[in-house]
Amino acid sequence: MSLILARDIVKTYSTGEIEVQALRKVSFEIMEGSFVAFAGPSGSGKTTLLNLIGCLDKPTAGGLVVAEMAVARLNRLQAAKFRGKNIGFIFQNFNLMPVLTTFENIEYPLTMVQTLPAQERANRVTALLESVGMADQRNKYPEQLSGGQKQRVAVARALVTRPKLVLADEPTANLDHDTAHMIIQLMKKMTEEFNTTFIFSTHDSRIIGEAEVIYTLEDGRITNREVAHAQPV
Ligand code: ADP
Ligand code: MG
Repeated sequence: MSLILARDIVKTYSTGEIEVQALRKVSFEIMEGSFVAFAGPSGSGKTTLLNLIGCLDKPTAGGLVVAEMAVARLNRLQAAKFRGKNIGFIFQNFNLMPVLTTFENIEYPLTMVQTLPAQERANRVTALLESVGMADQRNKYPEQLSGGQKQRVAVARALVTRPKLVLADEPTANLDHDTAHMIIQLMKKMTEEFNTTFIFSTHDSRIIGEAEVIYTLEDGRITNREVAHAQPV
């Protein structure tokens, strides 16, 4: 089933006199449960595109459907609700709350959802701590963790609301190669475990090949689509 359908998306930033065409008629379809990378050099439009998919910004033109919702039509409040229900985010600089423990950082998105009882929250967080291999670090604060450990926490946090889609903008940019590889593998494992659709951006050629589907962005256009590991028939 199709989770994201983008048709001729244009995004133009206007700052004073200058107009920057960050995306120039980008079209693609992403199926539910897939593990997708947007690759491309700095300035090619990766962050712009993930922001549109994540309903953090709106296209200037074109059609964008995410989880059967025409997201460009949502107002700010509707977009925030849609994000909270459907999308998890992972950031390049981890974005953990320094005053919260590992456990509390993962639990945090759930504390926004008033309907979930405390015990159910705790059960979910505990299960995720196990899945990302951080059970023994549950009471540590972010400053006591390595970069790779912080990103494990961020992966768990992104999944705790059981979103349909997880978006990660250059999630491994601040990690060494071995750690980057481990984090991508963890994301892949979690995608399978939770049947989540996972989209990440990167300009690191060493991890691009880990994705199932790779789109190359250049100067605001998709210049290539590659299926890395063809499924056996
Ligand atoms: P990437 O994430 O691949 O590095 P971006 O999506 O950040 O690319 O940027 C694409 C283009 O849009 C670049 O030319 C960048 O300078 C420009 N751009 C991005 N955000 C803004 C903004 N808020 N205002 C003006 N120009 C922007
Ligand atoms: Mg970027």
